Amino acid sequence: MRAVVINEPHSVKVTDVPDPTIGPRDALIRVMATGICGTDLHIIDGEFPTASYPNIPGHELAGEIVALGDEVADVEAGAVDFRVGDRVGVDPTLNCGECFFCQRGQGNLCDRFGAVGLTAPGGFAEYASVPIRTLYKLPDSMSYATGALIEPVCCAVRGFHRLSPQIGETYLIYGAGPMGLINAQMARFNGASQVALIDINESRLDRARNDFGIEHVATSLAGLQHLAPRGFDNVIEATGVTRVASMALDAVIKGGKLLLFGVCPPGQKAEYDAYRIYNHELTIMGTMAVRNSYGPALSILATDAIDYGKMVSHTLPLADFEEAVDIARKGSGMKVQVAPNG
Ligand SMILES: [Zn+2]
Ligand SMILES: [Zn+2]
Repeated sequence: MRAVVINEPHSVKVTDVPDPTIGPRDALIRVMATGICGTDLHIIDGEFPTASYPNIPGHELAGEIVALGDEVADVEAGAVDFRVGDRVGVDPTLNCGECFFCQRGQGNLCDRFGAVGLTAPGGFAEYASVPIRTLYKLPDSMSYATGALIEPVCCAVRGFHRLSPQIGETYLIYGAGPMGLINAQMARFNGASQVALIDINESRLDRARNDFGIEHVATSLAGLQHLAPRGFDNVIEATGVTRVASMALDAVIKGGKLLLFGVCPPGQKAEYDAYRIYNHELTIMGTMAVRNSYGPALSILATDAIDYGKMVSHTLPLADFEEAVDIARKGSGMKVQVAPNG
C-alpha cells in the first residue's frame, strides 16, 4: 500500500510499504480521512519525545472496516460489536493498561503511553490496522471528514473535563488556529457568557469572526480587557508558544484558571509571579491528549455545536502529503485533511 513514512526527523516521503498485518483483536481500516495536527509537525521536526521512527503518522483518522482479526471476526457469536463495512472513527490512545497510572484509571498518563500515528502506524496510509477497542461507529449522517475531526474535538473535551467550568463563565483563548476555534466553540457549548480570542494573525481573527461568529477578537489582551476588567474565569493557551503560556496568566481573574492546551517545546520554562498565584488563588493546569473523551466528542460533533463544515479548509490526496504539511505550517487555512483513498 501507499503510505507516508517518516524515516527520521525531517525525512518524509510517500512510498510503498507492506500491507499492515491484522492482529487477532484488530480491525483493518480503509482510511478515508486523516487530519494533520500540530503533533504531526512536531514528529516530522523531531520535537515529539515519545514518537518512534520510522513512523507512519496520522492519529486523526476515520474510515471503513475491511477486515477483522481472528478473535473478533465471528460477529454471530457476539464476540465483537463491529462488522466489515462499518464506518468508524479511531481513538488513537494505546495505553498499556498495566502500569501504575493505567491501574489508577489515568490511561493518558500511562508510563508506556503510545498512540496510533505516534508509536504505531497511523492514518496517512491507504490502510491502518488498529485494535478493536479503539473504534467508534460513526452515525450514518456523519461524513468521514467530520469523523476525522472527532480526535481534535476529543482533546478539547479532555481540556474541558479538566477545567470543569460553570455555566455563565468567561473565556479567553490564545490562538485562533483549528484548536483555538474548537475550544472557542466548546466554550460556547458550555454556556459561556463571553468568548474572546487572541491571535497575532489578523486573517485568522477575521475568519474567527466571520465564519465562526466569535465577536470578540484582538491581537493583544489590551483590546479585550474591557470585556472582563477583573480578568477571565478560564484562559486557554492554544498556541504552544512558551512565551504566550507565560503571559496568558495575566488575563486570569482572581480564583480563575489557566489551561495549558498547546504543546510547548519540552524543557522550556514559563515564568509566573508565584506571589500572584498564591494571593489570587490561581490554578494552572495541563491537559494531555485524551481520556474517556472520544465518545462525548463524537456525540458533540453529531450536533451543531461545532461548525464542522467550516473546520476543514483543505483536502488533499495522499501523494500530496508534503503540500498538505506546508499548508498546515503556514496556518492560513483551518484543518488540513488527507484523503488516502479519495
Ligand atoms: Zn492531534
Ligand atoms: Zn500504562
